[in-house]
Amino acid sequence: MEMKKRKNRILLKPTTRTNLLFVVLFTTIFLLVSYVFGIINARSDSGLKFNTENGCYDFEENNVAANDSSFIGENWIFAPNISVTDFIESDHNYYLYSNGPYASGVSISGSGWDNLGSNAEWHNSHTERSKTLRSYEFQNHSYNSGAYFMKFHLPTDLSTINISIPFISGEAYIYCNGSFVGSLGEADYDANISFDVSCGYSSLSLPSDENNNVELVIIVISDTLMPYQGITSIPAIEGNSADADAIAISSSWLVIVVSLTVFSVLGGWIISKTFHNIRKYYFFAASNIVFVLYFLCDNNYLVMNALTRSVTCFSLFILLIVLFYDFISALFIDAEQNKVMLFLRCDNKIVACMGIALVALVLLDISLVDSNYLNIVSKIFAITLLGICVIKVFFIYSDSRHSTIGLCSAVTGVFLFSYMMIEDSRIINISIYSIFYIIAISAIELVFVYNYLQQFREVRESENHLQYVVKKKTQHISEINVDLYNTNKKLIQNEEARKNVMSNVSHDLRTPIAAIRGYAELMLGAKDTMSDEQKTMYLQNIIRRSQQMERIVSDIVELSRMESSGNEFNFMDCSVSELLDEIYSLFYADLRNTDKKFTINLPEDDLLIVKADPKKLSRVFENLISNAINYTNDSAKIEIKAWRTGQELAIEDQRVHVTVSDNGIGIPAEEIPLIFDRFYRAKNSGKNIKGTGLGLSIVKLIVDKHDAEISIESKLDYGTTFHIIMKAIP
Ligand code: ADP
Repeated sequence: MEMKKRKNRILLKPTTRTNLLFVVLFTTIFLLVSYVFGIINARSDSGLKFNTENGCYDFEENNVAANDSSFIGENWIFAPNISVTDFIESDHNYYLYSNGPYASGVSISGSGWDNLGSNAEWHNSHTERSKTLRSYEFQNHSYNSGAYFMKFHLPTDLSTINISIPFISGEAYIYCNGSFVGSLGEADYDANISFDVSCGYSSLSLPSDENNNVELVIIVISDTLMPYQGITSIPAIEGNSADADAIAISSSWLVIVVSLTVFSVLGGWIISKTFHNIRKYYFFAASNIVFVLYFLCDNNYLVMNALTRSVTCFSLFILLIVLFYDFISALFIDAEQNKVMLFLRCDNKIVACMGIALVALVLLDISLVDSNYLNIVSKIFAITLLGICVIKVFFIYSDSRHSTIGLCSAVTGVFLFSYMMIEDSRIINISIYSIFYIIAISAIELVFVYNYLQQFREVRESENHLQYVVKKKTQHISEINVDLYNTNKKLIQNEEARKNVMSNVSHDLRTPIAAIRGYAELMLGAKDTMSDEQKTMYLQNIIRRSQQMERIVSDIVELSRMESSGNEFNFMDCSVSELLDEIYSLFYADLRNTDKKFTINLPEDDLLIVKADPKKLSRVFENLISNAINYTNDSAKIEIKAWRTGQELAIEDQRVHVTVSDNGIGIPAEEIPLIFDRFYRAKNSGKNIKGTGLGLSIVKLIVDKHDAEISIESKLDYGTTFHIIMKAIP
C-alpha cells in the first residue's frame, strides 16, 4: 500500500506551480552567475597612468606590485602592414613604424584592428595624411598583418613580467627589446611555430633590459577570411604567480568540465538501460560530447589556426543546437500531441536538414565565415530553434510528465546558447556558458541520482515486503501441511479402525448368525424327538441372537442417520432422575446374578429436569453403563450419580451433572482424546471384549446435539468416570 502511494507520487504529472518554481530557480541562478561573473571576469583597462612624454607605462610610478595583473587596453601604437619578415629585415628596429603610417593612442577592442578605438590618431601617412585609420586601409582589407607597440618601465625588483592575451585572431609573434620571445594566439598554417598555450591559458615571459625597460612588439598575421583580425582581447601584464594561478584555474576548470561530462555520459549510459525511451539519452550524451568539443576549441584548449577554429566552432555550434532541439523533442516522444500535429512529426528532420545545410555551406565555401550574413543566419537559426523549444515545452507539452525537465532544459538552452554567441572578455579563463553547462549537468545528475536512490529504496522496501509475504505464506503452507498430516494420520487411523470394525461387525454378525443357524439345524434335525422345553430354549436363543444382530446394525444406521440430519431429535422437558431410575432397574436385573455391584445415587428432592430427547438421552446412559459393565471384571463397582450444580445461581446458570463411574481397566491417557472417534477402540479393550467402537461416537453425537458437555476421567487399571453436564431447567 505504502509502496503504491510512493510510486504514484513519482508518476504524478508535475504541477504548473512546480514547473514555474523550477523555471524561476534556474533563471535566477543563471542571471546571478552571469551578473557576478560578468563583474569579476571582465577584462577592462586597469586605468594605469600612461606617460605620454616617453610613451611608456611606468610600473614604478603606478605602484604595480610584482603579482598584480594590469590590463593594458589603451595607448597602444599600431602599424599596419608590418609583417614578421619586415621586422627581421629591419634589424629589430622598434622605431620601424615611424617610417611608415601608424596609429597612436589605439585602444584594443573585441573587433580587432577593424576598430582601434575613437582616440586613434593616424601618423606619418605618406599619401593621405588627413584620413582616419579606419578609412585609410581597413575598409578594403588590403593587408592582413600589423604590429602593436608598447613600452613598460619595471620597478627595480622586477626583472620579468608576463603577458597574456586570451583572444588573438591570427598568429602573434612577440618581440621584447628587439628579440623574439615566443608566439601567442592561433597556430599558423604550417604549424611550425610553437604556441605558448597551457591548458587554455596563453602567456609569455618578457625580460627587461639593463634599464628595467621592456619594449614590446606584437606582430599579428591574420587570415584574410576572418571577420575580425588582430588582438581581440585586452592584454594582461602580470607577475609570475598570477600567471601560475591562472594556469591552475584554467586546468582545473578543464578537468571539472571533462570529468563531469564523462561522469554524466557513462552514468547516464548505465541508468539509461532502464529507460523506456532511450532516445533522449542518446541526444543528451551526444549534446554533452559536442559541447565539450566546442568548449575545447573555443577556449583555446586545442591549438589550431584561427580559420580552422572559426569553422570548427561554427559547425559544432550548429550541431549542438540541432542535438539540443532533438533532445527536447525526445523527452516528449510518447506525447499524444505528436500524433495530432503534423509539424511535431517532421520538425526534427527539418531542423537536422537545415543544420546540415548550414554546416555544409561553410565547409564548401570557407570564405563564408568572413561573411556577416552567415553569422546573422546562424544566430537567427539558433534563436528560432530555441524559441520553438520554449514554445513546445511551455505550451504544447505543458501537461506532460517530463514538462519540468523540459522547461529547465529550455531555460538552460536559452542562457547557454545566448552566451555562446556573445564573445565574453575574461580575466580567468572560464566562459560563463561553461558554468551554465556545469550547473545544468550537475542538476540533471542530482535529479537522476535522487530518482535512482528513491527507486533503489522502493526496490528494497518491496523486497522486504516480498520476503515478509513469502514468510507468511510459507508459515501458512506449513500450517496447512501440519493439518494435512494430521488429517492424513486420522484418515489412516479411521481406515484402520474401519477395517477393525468391519471385521468386528462381520465377526459380531457372523457369531449370532452361526448360532441361529446352529439352533435352526438342530431343531430341524431333531424336531420329532425334541421336548417342548428344549424347543422353547432354542427359540429364545434364536430371538436373543437376532436382537444382538439388530443392535449392531441399528447402531450403524442410527449413527449415520443422526449425523446426516438433525431432525431425528424430539426435544421436550424430561427428568434425568426418572430416566436414570428406569435404566438402572433394567441393568440391575441383568447384573443380579453376577458379582458386579451396581449402585445409583440421585437427589431425592429434585427430578433434574432438562430439555432433551428422552429416547436419545437414555441411549447415552445405556451406552455408558454397558461400557462400564463390559470393561470391568467380575468384582466391579459401577455407580451412577446425578445432581444439580450452581443451585445458588440463576436458573440459566444451573447445570445437571451426571457421572457413570466404574473401577475397571481404565483408558490409556494418550487415547482419551480419540475415544469418541468412530470405530475407535482403546488398545487395552482386548479382543475378548467385543465391541464396535460406535457406542461412544453415538454418545458424543447425542450430547453435542443437546448442547451439553461430556468429559472423561480415567486411570489405567483404576477405573473410568464419564461426566455429562447439561443445562438445567426449572
Ligand atoms: P465399544 O463397542 O468398543 O465398547 P465404545 O464406543 O462404546 O465402543 O467405546 C470405545 C472404546 O472406549 C472401547 O473400545 C474401550 O476401549 C473404551 N471404553 C469405553 N468405555 C470404557 C470404560 N468404562 N472403561 C474402559 N474403557 C472404556
